[in-house]
Amino acid sequence: MTDVIDPNEAPRRTSKPARTSIGGHELKPSTLMMGYGYDPVLSEGSLKPPIFLTSTFAFPSAADGKHHFEGITGKRPGGADGLVYSRFNGPNQEILEDRLGIWDGAEDALAFSSGMTAICVLMMAYVSQGDVIVHSGPLYAASEGFVSKVLSKFGVTYVDFPAGASGEQMQAVLEKAREQAESQGGKVAMIYLESPANPTNALVDIEAMRKARDTVLSADCPIAIDNTFLGPLWQRPLDHGADIVVYSLTKYVGGHSDLVAGSIAGARKWMDPVRMLRNTMGGICDPNTAWMLLRSLETVELRMQRAGENAAKVCEFLRQHPKVERLAYLGFISDARQQDIFDRHCTGAGSTFSLFIKGGEAESFRFLDNLSIAKLAVSLGGTETLASHPAAMTHLSVPDERKAALGITDNLVRISIGIEDPDDLIADFEQALAKV
Ligand SMILES: *Cc1c(COP(=O)(O)O)cnc(C)c1O
Repeated sequence: MTDVIDPNEAPRRTSKPARTSIGGHELKPSTLMMGYGYDPVLSEGSLKPPIFLTSTFAFPSAADGKHHFEGITGKRPGGADGLVYSRFNGPNQEILEDRLGIWDGAEDALAFSSGMTAICVLMMAYVSQGDVIVHSGPLYAASEGFVSKVLSKFGVTYVDFPAGASGEQMQAVLEKAREQAESQGGKVAMIYLESPANPTNALVDIEAMRKARDTVLSADCPIAIDNTFLGPLWQRPLDHGADIVVYSLTKYVGGHSDLVAGSIAGARKWMDPVRMLRNTMGGICDPNTAWMLLRSLETVELRMQRAGENAAKVCEFLRQHPKVERLAYLGFISDARQQDIFDRHCTGAGSTFSLFIKGGEAESFRFLDNLSIAKLAVSLGGTETLASHPAAMTHLSVPDERKAALGITDNLVRISIGIEDPDDLIADFEQALAKV
């Protein structure tokens, strides 16, 4: 699809000078979030970036306009060196993209109006008719649906494998996908992972997939991973062999349940085709949302640390409660292979987990309806604790056999712990369990 895009519509960001070290000392992301990518001198000294509400950007002179377009069209090397039009980019979104890249150690990042826009544009930028996408399962339901119901209309097929697969199993899946692609006259266009999987919390071995990709396929086939559940704090997939990291910024990064946005990040060569398609289609987040995300990024480490500590305390309480059957929490992994992946890839257990209550739907609903601090809502990663019932809500339309295979039972309650006082949360869970 990328070859039909007019290269006239592919401006690149200019790079802004920014200090990332003092002497030989590398500055941490939490420090860089307060200033990186923004120069107050350019905005009347305003300490914080203003919100730039404009659809287009004035050229200082006709010659400057020509210079921009020479860069955009490739007549002059180096790409665009200024802003042109707000479907392509704007100052707030550029600062956001610079700062998002820092968390994952990525050369480049792109912001989108939702996590799903990021995922759809990413996939469309890489697939052509006859291609195959290999993905781990389960995926976020809309991601899985985009592959199986939308891309399939354009002759793109998929092969999926369970999140916990071993390196040998991954290699076999890639071989099968390669044969499938050859029979369709296409290629394996993308390996798409999501880890941990929702709601099982099964982890994908990114390193093993990188090895399998390098053995079976060519390095032109990118490995993308949805890092929404653990990123950007507790898992940095680019360090473990992924090429592209994907986020719903709506969750932990936005962190206040008050916006919807998404992003991808990786090496510039992986971002360029996606940027070109975003330039054509639109889908970049708006300046106000970008500004709110800049504010969110200043506290993302603090918020995630606190939520993670709270979740550890709450899960310690829940695991020994007589009305609790078990927990799927990354702090209590029982499988040795999963623990090995966790030890290699993750620096924290997160704050989103599954609670299996003794009983079924009735017991789970009684628990949910009696919570008073925790709010009854889907989504995750906000400052407030949320609880939901996947079988009756997010996964209601999933066929029963698939639900059973994924372990989505009627006694499963999904919980995302926020930054409230942990003892208050425990008191709330205790009184709600008492009513079950
Ligand atoms: C929420 C979510 C998405 C979709 O993001 P939106 O911002 O809602 O479009 C994708 N992947 C995962 C893992 C999510 O939790």
